[in-house]
Amino acid sequence: TSDSVLVMSTDSHSNSANPDLTPIVRLSGVNKHYGHLHVLQNINLEVSKGEVVVVLGPSGSGKSTLCRTINRLETIDTGSIEIDGKVLPEEGKMLAKLRADVGMVFQSFNLFAHKTILENVTLGPIKAKGMKKSDADKLAMSLLERVGVANQKDKLPAQLSGGQQQRVAIARALAMRPKVMLFDEPTSALDPEMINEVLDTMIGLAKEGMTMIVVTHEMGFARKAADRVIFMADGLIVEESTPDKFFTNPESARAKDFLGKLI
Ligand code: ADP
Ligand code: MG
Repeated sequence: TSDSVLVMSTDSHSNSANPDLTPIVRLSGVNKHYGHLHVLQNINLEVSKGEVVVVLGPSGSGKSTLCRTINRLETIDTGSIEIDGKVLPEEGKMLAKLRADVGMVFQSFNLFAHKTILENVTLGPIKAKGMKKSDADKLAMSLLERVGVANQKDKLPAQLSGGQQQRVAIARALAMRPKVMLFDEPTSALDPEMINEVLDTMIGLAKEGMTMIVVTHEMGFARKAADRVIFMADGLIVEESTPDKFFTNPESARAKDFLGKLI
């Protein structure tokens, strides 16, 4: 079925002794500065297979930087990042390989403007994985179908609505068969009426067992889909709990303040 396409993620090429216990993502003592700004302060974070972690926090707290370090769009100063038990190196072949395990969806959809919707999704598998075009087309169509935009396959991104483009971006990331999907405010640039179609796609993914790290201001999504909420402020993980506990009984003053401002 088209659903099964999405979850063919992880174990087949894992050498770990204990694949089910190895976190898909592990940050250990990660520090990063931008000049004098200590933007990530001793971040420790483990995300298990199939877990959905929602990252909340005020603007400027380091949420995007955290996401960007996980697939090495940003370097770190100290600490380590592991993807499925393998340390993300500075550069080289292993970096490219591990990066392919991390799908990323940004606020701005970042589709290739001059390629069709179908080509946007097939490009990665063909170029990075050497997949045959016919196989890539088949995979892409099943993913486009899954996110509900298969009938747009021959159009250019600009001909689609923002919500449709973001769903294509999700399909494109999934086409690389990532072990984890990172979402950095995926609905922040969307008109309100399009937010739910993207969130519903993400909820579907979560239900199918995809490991996800989601930065969002959509508290409804956090309540519904998160296994765990991480609250960041000033480069620190200030609080970590279940969504239920976080929303009804936050511990830190920062979190209380943050939640108070949402209403
Ligand atoms: P968030 O996503 O939580 O809003 P960011 O990770 O984007 O936070 O930013 C955290 C802090 O780092 C902010 O103060 C921001 O201005 C700063 N910052 C982000 N990117 C850069 C950069 N490339 N150079 C310098 N400072 C940056
Ligand atoms: Mg951000």
